[in-house]
Amino acid sequence: MPHTLLINPTITSRSSARFPLSLLHLSAALDRSGSSRIIDGNVDRDFISDTLQAMAHERFDAVGVSVMGGPQVAPAIAVSRAIREHHPDVTIIWGGYFPTLYPDVALSAPYVDYAVRAQGDHTLRELVGALEQGSGASLEHIAGLSWKKDGHIVHNPSRGFTHADPGVVLPYDKLGDPRRYLARTFLGRRTAAHQAAIGCRYHCTFCGVAAMFGGATLLPTAARLERELGYLKHQLGADSIQFFDHNFFDREEDMLPLLEVMARLELPWWCYARSDALLKLSAHSWKLVRRSRLRMAYIGAESPSGQMLKEIRKGTRPDQTLAVAELCRRHGVIPELSFMVAPPEHTEEETEHTFEFIRELKRINPHSEIIIYIYTPLPESSRNEKDRGRRPSAPLCDVHGEPVVFPATPEEWTQPRWVDYACHADAPWLTDELRRRIHDFATVLRCRYPTVQDLRSPPWAKRALSAAASWRYHFRRYDRPWELDLANRLVRLRLPQVSGL
Ligand code: SF4
Repeated sequence: MPHTLLINPTITSRSSARFPLSLLHLSAALDRSGSSRIIDGNVDRDFISDTLQAMAHERFDAVGVSVMGGPQVAPAIAVSRAIREHHPDVTIIWGGYFPTLYPDVALSAPYVDYAVRAQGDHTLRELVGALEQGSGASLEHIAGLSWKKDGHIVHNPSRGFTHADPGVVLPYDKLGDPRRYLARTFLGRRTAAHQAAIGCRYHCTFCGVAAMFGGATLLPTAARLERELGYLKHQLGADSIQFFDHNFFDREEDMLPLLEVMARLELPWWCYARSDALLKLSAHSWKLVRRSRLRMAYIGAESPSGQMLKEIRKGTRPDQTLAVAELCRRHGVIPELSFMVAPPEHTEEETEHTFEFIRELKRINPHSEIIIYIYTPLPESSRNEKDRGRRPSAPLCDVHGEPVVFPATPEEWTQPRWVDYACHADAPWLTDELRRRIHDFATVLRCRYPTVQDLRSPPWAKRALSAAASWRYHFRRYDRPWELDLANRLVRLRLPQVSGL
């Protein structure tokens, strides 16, 4: 019976830690034919030495490291190196978005033996089972696996994903006291994270979800959703839910049973959604949405340009973004709208156009929350095999006109400029002036309309900042808001795009 250690390297602060849902799913799958243990670096701040300590006391056949990319790559490297140094015979497997998007990069490292692409539940279970059988076991048949053979990297065929109902709740007890993961947010005093549906049926060219799931989505049954949320509410005492679904609202007929569950449980909730899906909901569904106490929906508006939305295969239109802001206002749901500014082409014009569009949204619904990212497309090679070659983006060039060359090793991905790229915080084609302009606009906007998600800043400070920013916002005088930068240093307004809820 293989025994596997699953590690979630530190990616966020202790107070922002949420259930490591992917590891809980993997653990549930592994325990069907073996056993597993979870170390979560978001809660266990000394997770590398605790990993080594665990490995000194227990025999593990393999270690699985979850790697999201961005700021999680450096701690993933650190823990993998430490394991290789102290336990050179133990197999190290990377899974998650990073090895799915960049399997060759992951496997270029001497401390990564296998890369599990996309949903790992079955791939990892089959791999640790094969490893237990010894060197004679064949790996070629394990779908979704990338591995090294005779000095070459082999990519086995991809695996379709599944959402089978195991009939029991996730193994939360593997996390010690799971109540540690309930957080105070604007939704409630004990907000729990949950993932109901997985995947997304759209193919946006910039999106890691599209790269991982290739335009497929699966929803849970109503019974499963009720069982999981009922456990969180009645056993753990959760009073609100943050859905980590890639896209909660899908086709209305499929959503209705899930909305009925939410309406019965009456837990205030937050989720990802699309403007077109919300606009299509019937009056009956909106009644359920209101009864269920949906507080905020994160909607990828991306751009005010219909042309750009077509190019990135978003499938929505700018007029739908404006309409959904108004619709949400009428139903008491806060739309959290994200935009991607500074695309590689028409960089300045698109950015200024976006600023004006955001102002229009604020006129329609002043409660709209705005998230501003830099547009950082995925390398063509990272897109899902079904989507490669479809609307390929033009070759990317940096600010000097030189081609953008993506990192070839995990270590290169830890350089600050590439962490920023992965987090949509900066791009090689931005000039210093435009970078400054975006920062200034975002500062004025954030101060003028402080987010409701910020529980840390006192209300009087938010009111004072809003008043101080109002003349700049009114007269579009965004440039060098030194007084707001200074005030921000004292108040430290929360940035939802950095810290989450
Ligand atoms: S709709 Fe959202 S989750 Fe789906 S592919 Fe597009 S950006 Fe990704």
